[in-house]
Amino acid sequence: MSRNPHAGVPFEASDAEIVEALKDVSIPTLLLSLVHLTGDPAIIRGDLRPAGLFLNEVQGYLSEEDQERARALALDLLIAYRDAGCPEPAPLGAEVVHEMMEWLVCEPVPDQYVPMLMEEMELDGRDARALRSTRGAAWDRPPVAVIGCGESGLLAGIRLKEAGIPFVIFEKNAGVGGTWWENTYPGARVDVGNHFYCYSFEPSDQWTEFFARQPELQAYFASVMDRRGITEHIAFSTEVAGATWDDETGTWNVEVHRADGSIGQVAASAVISAVGQLNRPNLPEIPGRDAFAGPSFHSAQWDHGVDLAGKRVVMIGAGASGFQIAPAIAEEVEHLTIFQRTAQWMFPNPNYHEAVGPGVRWALRHLPFYGRWYRFLIFWPGCDKGLEAARVDPAYPDPQVAVSEINDLTRQMFTDWILSQIDGDDELAAKVIPDYPATGKRTLQDNGSWLRTLTRPDVELIRLGIDHIEAGGVVDVEGTLHPADVIVFATGFKATELLWPLEIRGSGGVDLREMWGDRPAAYLGITVPGFPNFFCMYGPGTNLAHGGSLIFHSECQMRYIEQCLLALAEGGHRQMEPRREAYDDWHQRTQAEIKTLVWSQPSVRHSFFKNAAGEIHGLSPWRLVDYWGWTRQVDLEDYVMS
Ligand code: NAP
Repeated sequence: MSRNPHAGVPFEASDAEIVEALKDVSIPTLLLSLVHLTGDPAIIRGDLRPAGLFLNEVQGYLSEEDQERARALALDLLIAYRDAGCPEPAPLGAEVVHEMMEWLVCEPVPDQYVPMLMEEMELDGRDARALRSTRGAAWDRPPVAVIGCGESGLLAGIRLKEAGIPFVIFEKNAGVGGTWWENTYPGARVDVGNHFYCYSFEPSDQWTEFFARQPELQAYFASVMDRRGITEHIAFSTEVAGATWDDETGTWNVEVHRADGSIGQVAASAVISAVGQLNRPNLPEIPGRDAFAGPSFHSAQWDHGVDLAGKRVVMIGAGASGFQIAPAIAEEVEHLTIFQRTAQWMFPNPNYHEAVGPGVRWALRHLPFYGRWYRFLIFWPGCDKGLEAARVDPAYPDPQVAVSEINDLTRQMFTDWILSQIDGDDELAAKVIPDYPATGKRTLQDNGSWLRTLTRPDVELIRLGIDHIEAGGVVDVEGTLHPADVIVFATGFKATELLWPLEIRGSGGVDLREMWGDRPAAYLGITVPGFPNFFCMYGPGTNLAHGGSLIFHSECQMRYIEQCLLALAEGGHRQMEPRREAYDDWHQRTQAEIKTLVWSQPSVRHSFFKNAAGEIHGLSPWRLVDYWGWTRQVDLEDYVMS
């Protein structure tokens, strides 16, 4: 039997090399690895234990002295393990693993979460989300078409390949990665820890930073694509314009536009949309936008041909992207003016720009299950807790300030973090402390670089509206011209116009986006009545503002979709679509739930989550554990199969 892939690669490191590696590692994670290695839970039953939990605080507040004690213990055990030839550890019992979970996060991990976490952690070395059709049903129909090859489209390809279902992925770009292909702006990096923000079944011990930058993320997806043999299934530089369901033949006709200008029609038995929600740039209609004399571009379409050195740059918009761009370019430009309509809440994260030390990489590679526990340690603090802080207590006095006691405490923590950085500058404080409840928009990760940038003499934050743009710059509503050589639009995406500009026509020629208007919905965020064999990944109601990772959600969705496809093949059905009642019930419940959460509050005036009526249809209001449970096994009673 082959070695469990998470049991660590056997090593021959010298004692001194082990000592060196242990300087970097997360000590609580190390201790759990030692439990595997020795099979002895007594290691975590003494007084060496983490003292608290906070997202990205991976030392569990252990004192330096305790960390040293743990390293000394580890050194002896690792030397013995090495000298014994690094044998694969015996599996631990379920109760011990549960005890280890609770020990690491210093709180109860309810039984309901354990199966989900066990699946996520794969301690048994088995990728439980991969179905692999064992019933040998032949796919006697056209291939499945996947639209887009970002993280979710690539995942779709991996799973379809495993299941033996023929497929083709159409990708408008020349390479894999989606968001991580397109967003090459300076400073672009992920804001979910990378040892969690990667496929559960494709961990990497190679991340050079805890929150990797765009090139490294794109390279990760490219390497997974190669390793999993997906490349030959992808039509790059091929944009899907739309897809039309043919009631007669029970197939989709997918219209593709190729880079050479040719247009093709491809028959598909099913379509998986994997286009994401944040892909089409939003360029606000500011009067005079076209009158600007210099170069201007959107953050997701960065023009690397424009040299910013010595230039006066105006950046319009400062959400997640602008927040990363400003610190990255401030040094280089002559002057940076930032127009920010709404101040952003930010979460203190000292690791945000930190490099992964060589010891951590060594531990990830060689120490049994170290990477698995590290993944859990990053996942758990963001697993459903954000939802508690987002829930509105209707009795709470001032919803403009906070929506509940816990939300108020979060506000206080975030405010203290801001104030700690600005050295009593009241004018700046008034500009940067948001006037809406904490977590009301997607909270940004911060290590101090944003406010440090704002305090530079050559950087100016403008909190006024824009009147117009003219040849020489941007004029605010008070009539002041802010001169610019270059304008950067960090103004986000068409997040409420899901699937725009795709034209998806279902049964009877119904246009999906017309049917949706600005209230898109899908059963479980995945399927839509009247649109047979059409599946969304990262569809309506599945964006995450309360934690987790979209990759986690994608893995849930793709398992569900794969089950649907296998049910079609194995049941000899031509098509399936959700029952109208299931869809209506889901939409109504999701809408009712989202209204109980902070993101829907009128106090959050501007938010890309909201449509013109102030409703939210893109976000998930659900706990990860619930969504995981609902998508774990498709219930064919929810579907009309024919
Ligand atoms: P965003 O968060 O929507 O920010 C857009 C910015 O443009 C905001 O400051 C917004 O102001 C402003 N804006 C939009 N329309 C405007 C108008 N007409 N006039 C003036 N200002 C306007 O977009 P983003 O920064 O591209 O980020 C979008 C999402 O992408 C994020 O929430 C996140 O999910 C993802 N993202 C993630 C990362 C990461 O992982 N590190 C990085 C970038 C993006 P208001 O706030 O007032 O609307």
